[in-house]
Amino acid sequence: MKASPGPAVSVIIPLYNECENLEDLHRELTSALEPMGRPYEIILVDDGSTDGTLDRLLALESRDPRVRVLRLRRNFGQTAAFSAGFDHARGDVVVTSDGDLQNDPADIPRLVAKLEEGYDMVCGWRRERKDPLSKRLPSFFANRLISRATGVRLHDYGCSLKAMRAEVVKNLRLYGEMHRFIPAVASWMGVTLAEVPVHHRPRMRGRSKYGLGRTVRVLLDLFTVKFLLAYGTRPAHFFGLVGLGLGGAGFAILLYLSYVKLFEDTAIGGRPLLLLGALLFLTGLIFVSVGLMAEVLVRIYHESQGKPIYVVKEIRPAAAEPDREPALPHR
Ligand code: UDP
Ligand code: MG
Repeated sequence: MKASPGPAVSVIIPLYNECENLEDLHRELTSALEPMGRPYEIILVDDGSTDGTLDRLLALESRDPRVRVLRLRRNFGQTAAFSAGFDHARGDVVVTSDGDLQNDPADIPRLVAKLEEGYDMVCGWRRERKDPLSKRLPSFFANRLISRATGVRLHDYGCSLKAMRAEVVKNLRLYGEMHRFIPAVASWMGVTLAEVPVHHRPRMRGRSKYGLGRTVRVLLDLFTVKFLLAYGTRPAHFFGLVGLGLGGAGFAILLYLSYVKLFEDTAIGGRPLLLLGALLFLTGLIFVSVGLMAEVLVRIYHESQGKPIYVVKEIRPAAAEPDREPALPHR
């Protein structure tokens, strides 16, 4: 591992109204991290709590110099809280976990050890999940769906307990409820993934922040992730294909109707097929136009921000800073 002035391990924990869990959380984290014998920081992200979480966080922070408190201005959601943590983490290894003690901090050393076998990301797998059926059932289907759709094969996408290399995490941009798609989003960078079974516990104190509504949001996020992974740099291929299919079918129908009208001299004005043909043709046209528009957007996104459409792992012989993003060619 490369030497770094910062701590070797940054643990990031999002907290929204978890005041009753904080003491135990800190104690369990400390007894898991201290024996690892390396520098660490615990980044506790207060996601706009209203139950006194912040006061207890500040008390922890004044007691333990390894605790950093990141206070968000309001409740932005778990994904945003993780993102904030990523941006401010100083370690070479970043560990994420829930703060309600459902994840067991004692698993952290095993995850980190696995990471250092040469993986970029190690995901926890709650093999025996201690949640009510109303949570496990949608998760069961969601996990299979995400696995199929993204091609990133994991058993448990919802597990927050993960260990990742900082250089991977720092390049992640997350939106919506996408923390569960971190492995999928990162797969675009060509990361190597491992999965480790972890201990899971029922929530003893505080209440769950999610209900069934999450299932729908996860599904919608899956569409986004899938689309961006497959067509993020070539949207016209997606919209164009759909557009050509629909528009082609519409065109064929209209051609047929024209033939009927012109050569068989039959009225077509009242035929439902006419409506269908016209609609398909128009829809196809719109799809193709949206595809072209999206191509312009992709160029604006990548070129205005100097974001390449690839990620370099290494350049040989090593340049000064091989992990910097390459400059755009001069125009
Ligand atoms: N959380 C958060 N912001 C939110 C919702 C949740 O930071 O808007 C945190 C919460 O405090 C906990 C973690 O995310 O540490 C997981 O939340 P929860 O336990 O409610 O999810 P569940 O285990 O029920 O899926
Ligand atoms: Mg929980």
